[in-house]
Amino acid sequence: CGIFGIYCPDKKLEVAKVTYFGLYALQHRGQESSGIAVNDTGTILYHKDNGLVNEVFNEVVLNHLKGHSAIGHVRYSTTGKNDRENAQPLVVKYRKGHMALVHNGNLVNAHIIREKLEQEGAIFQTTIDSEVIANLISRNRIKSDNIEEAILKTMDEIKGAYSLLILTPNKLIAVRDPYGLRPLVMGKINNSICFASETCALDTVGAEYIRDVEPGEIVTVTKDGIKSTKYRQSFKHLCVFEFIYFARADSYLDGISVYEIRKKLGKQLCKESYVECDIVIGVPDSGTTAAIGFSEEAKIPFSEGFVKNRYIGRTFIKPEQSQREISVRLKLNPLKNNVAGKRVVLIDDSIVRGTTSRKIIKMLRDAGAREVHLRISSPPVLFPCYYGIDTPDRKELIAANYTTQEIAKILGADSLEYLSLEGLNSVFENKLQNFCTACFSGEYITEIPEGFNKYIFE
Ligand code: SF4
Ligand code: MG
Repeated sequence: CGIFGIYCPDKKLEVAKVTYFGLYALQHRGQESSGIAVNDTGTILYHKDNGLVNEVFNEVVLNHLKGHSAIGHVRYSTTGKNDRENAQPLVVKYRKGHMALVHNGNLVNAHIIREKLEQEGAIFQTTIDSEVIANLISRNRIKSDNIEEAILKTMDEIKGAYSLLILTPNKLIAVRDPYGLRPLVMGKINNSICFASETCALDTVGAEYIRDVEPGEIVTVTKDGIKSTKYRQSFKHLCVFEFIYFARADSYLDGISVYEIRKKLGKQLCKESYVECDIVIGVPDSGTTAAIGFSEEAKIPFSEGFVKNRYIGRTFIKPEQSQREISVRLKLNPLKNNVAGKRVVLIDDSIVRGTTSRKIIKMLRDAGAREVHLRISSPPVLFPCYYGIDTPDRKELIAANYTTQEIAKILGADSLEYLSLEGLNSVFENKLQNFCTACFSGEYITEIPEGFNKYIFE
């Protein structure tokens, strides 16, 4: 998911519109639903629905959403069904006012907490784990002096990945889980403070980057300024897959350029698995930057292999398998003039189920490519993600079930090589222990409670 928020004390900015553009820049992080809530000193107005940002909002709706602060969300479903009721922001009655909350990430123990709360008679309106968080904050608030204390108590209870933005009657609060699994950055436009999943959203709205919200940090913005509260412990474990695939190439996460990393991944991949060929092509868009790096290192020309239909969202994210099949063909068409008769190195960022690569290789062969050598700029995805990226169960992960040679055969490639974990580590200057790599290494940084199932609430 993608989240954006802004606090504008003097109301000089139209906060809903700024949020709209912020979300537009984060659309790659989720295409299923979009929503914005604004706060006008305690009264929260909101609008949310299934669809892309520009489908859900128009000028009339945005003009109604007036206030001094706003939060917004684009949804990519991992927990909970793709229903309208599951769209965010989640807006709830809370003590003397409303509270609105947006969440990027996935809890691993929401099912346990929810079960307990339901046993005590709690009612839930949605099937998203974010509602568990709202519920706990509200409960913990009763015995706390302020909401930050209630959030700290909630952080003791919830496990997993969460970057949160919360609107209360007089505050905008940003929270990042103690592992910093999902990104969250802070910026400013004049005297307004904003938060976003990625810096590309700050750039879009003309905000100046201040810093990343730290793992385990609660940042509170009020009319009196900014206050930081720290959880009792924190570790750096940002998701490495954000760099490989999920984030936009022009973003910086924890100060590191996504583009630079992708290019280095391509270079490292070439060092490990060079193959003699005529051209290097990338699977648009996710494989392009790594392909440029590979091409530079290999001194083999980079060439455009496909034309991409720009008017389609990311294929992978649509939840139904049938939709995914169609959308690969809708999205890409090979450039026959560039590939016919050529020996091609094809670069992609990752293989999950293998559906995309198989179709793309077939397209290239149909377009006359003589050889197709597939190179992947990340290690094999062997384990599911429980922290908010929609990778499937092990039985659907192709690399968890077949050897690399078998996969090459299934995909129809002349050869296949992945980047090694050591290679990934070297690209991150041997600091990979400061990132989550669980989908490659199986080393989950939290326990995964018994009975955990991403679709538990469906
Ligand atoms: Fe990211 Fe993989 Fe860790 Fe999930 S398991 S948070 S995708 S690195
Ligand atoms: Mg891709």
